[in-house]
Amino acid sequence: MKSLLDEYQKTKEFLVCIDSDGCAIDTMDIKHIKCFGPCMVKEWHLEEWQEAILKSWNDVNLYTLTRGINRFKGLETALVEVNEKYRKIEGLDTFVKWVNETTELSNESLERELENVKNICLKKALDWSIAVNKCIDELSEDDKKPFEGVKEALAEVSQYADVAIVSSANRKAVEDEWSKSSLLEHVNIVMTQDIGVKSYCIEKLIEKGYSKDKVLMVGDAVGDLKAAQKNGVMFYPIMVKKETYSWKRFISEVIPSLVEGRYGKELEERYINEFKENLTK
Ligand SMILES: [Mg+2]
Repeated sequence: MKSLLDEYQKTKEFLVCIDSDGCAIDTMDIKHIKCFGPCMVKEWHLEEWQEAILKSWNDVNLYTLTRGINRFKGLETALVEVNEKYRKIEGLDTFVKWVNETTELSNESLERELENVKNICLKKALDWSIAVNKCIDELSEDDKKPFEGVKEALAEVSQYADVAIVSSANRKAVEDEWSKSSLLEHVNIVMTQDIGVKSYCIEKLIEKGYSKDKVLMVGDAVGDLKAAQKNGVMFYPIMVKKETYSWKRFISEVIPSLVEGRYGKELEERYINEFKENLTK
């Protein structure tokens, strides 16, 4: 079974962990451009400043170093900016306090907070988050395709390495998206939010007997890099707007150097610098 960590056994010397959203599957842009930003404009009636607000939303959540941050942190950043530049956001301080003090940034946690605290911004944040989920559910299957080159990359790397999906999305969405594109056949185990955060997932996999210098995390956000660094394993970035190029390079440069033991600090540093530069324009 692909999901059962307890029963999982390593079959190869190498382990390649791959993030899903915005890394293997082209879902990040569409979710933010069609759902997250527009739902916020609608919830807070910000149509008047829509263009600038959506641009800023996409910069924060997709195209800069904060790419991939939690939705409520993204919302906090956006609402603070709206409050400063365009219109006062009622109840904002209480929402900002919740974002920074809660132990869990989720709809469930926000619902619990609302049982104790009556605040319009908290309520709107929950309604927005629910609307976003509905919007994402309604996206067509054609909007959730893998990036070009992913299937070939998985077919190639799975000859030498066990492949794990390491994602903070929910299991069903990830398994659906990967199986519809026939990617799951190259995957040994699926590690999603039900198991834990990414760094914890990597840690649990390492415990199955991989040597840290034979483990590589592939991701598209700084959070993925941090999860790799926390575990002392290697990282390879899939760069936003250069995903096809990144996956082609994974096949031509990364797999050979990994297998031949040449994927060291020097090469990794070059890729990471390029990755960060790509997120700071
Ligand atoms: Mg990602």
